[in-house]
Amino acid sequence: MTLDLVTIPCLADNYAYLVHDAATGDTLAVDVPEAEPIVAMLADKGWTLTHVLLTHHHWDHVNGLSDLLAGHPAQVIGAAADAHRLPPLDIAVVEGDRIEIGGEAGLVIDVPGHTVGHIAVHFPGSGLLFTADSLMALGCGRLFEGTPVQMWHSLSKLAALPGDTIVCSGHEYTAANAKFALTIDPDNSALTSRTDEVNAARATGQPTVPTTLETERATNPFLRAADPGIRAHLGLHNASDAEVFTEIRARKDQF
Ligand code: ZN
Ligand code: FE
Repeated sequence: MTLDLVTIPCLADNYAYLVHDAATGDTLAVDVPEAEPIVAMLADKGWTLTHVLLTHHHWDHVNGLSDLLAGHPAQVIGAAADAHRLPPLDIAVVEGDRIEIGGEAGLVIDVPGHTVGHIAVHFPGSGLLFTADSLMALGCGRLFEGTPVQMWHSLSKLAALPGDTIVCSGHEYTAANAKFALTIDPDNSALTSRTDEVNAARATGQPTVPTTLETERATNPFLRAADPGIRAHLGLHNASDAEVFTEIRARKDQF
């Protein structure tokens, strides 16, 4: 039995997710940008919230938590390293800890870069990966606190997971990310066709997440620092992968 996944658009361009185990009824919310759409989805599905995972402390990922908990008490899980600036945690986790949802374990992965305390969670049994503002569809989070080398290391850990892993990220930034990606990797036909798909999805208001790791590895420039075409395009033939990533991230900040 695998976990059920529901994607919930919140605020202007955020995503929250619900993960549900039918056998036990365990239900996890991943990030709480605002309470109302999550409450509405719980009612619609007839699910009872049991756990909340906070990926990092930014307001657009935690802002709805107290309103959500008011009617839906649940165990709140977040990074021990950021406990001082997250809402009160019931379960403070570090890399390698396991989050149990309906008997399936989600593995905590440290992914510093966007913030230093950002975590991702991987459920290998169901192939789900929650990345929020670390690895994003065709992009990665802006480096507010960490260094490019830290983010490169974080993304490399995620990129090593199985290709059919379902990547659940925190924002609908994919169309803008695609526009930038084409400036870095213009000859990548997989990127060109994905860009068409993304633009078509957005034209009809469809989310472009979740995606798969296989797709990200083929098209996301932030995972493709080793690609000879990108290196040639940037004139960085002999640089390390981390240096190529650093250049791509710097260009995105100027884009
Ligand atoms: Zn953030
Ligand atoms: Fe965010």
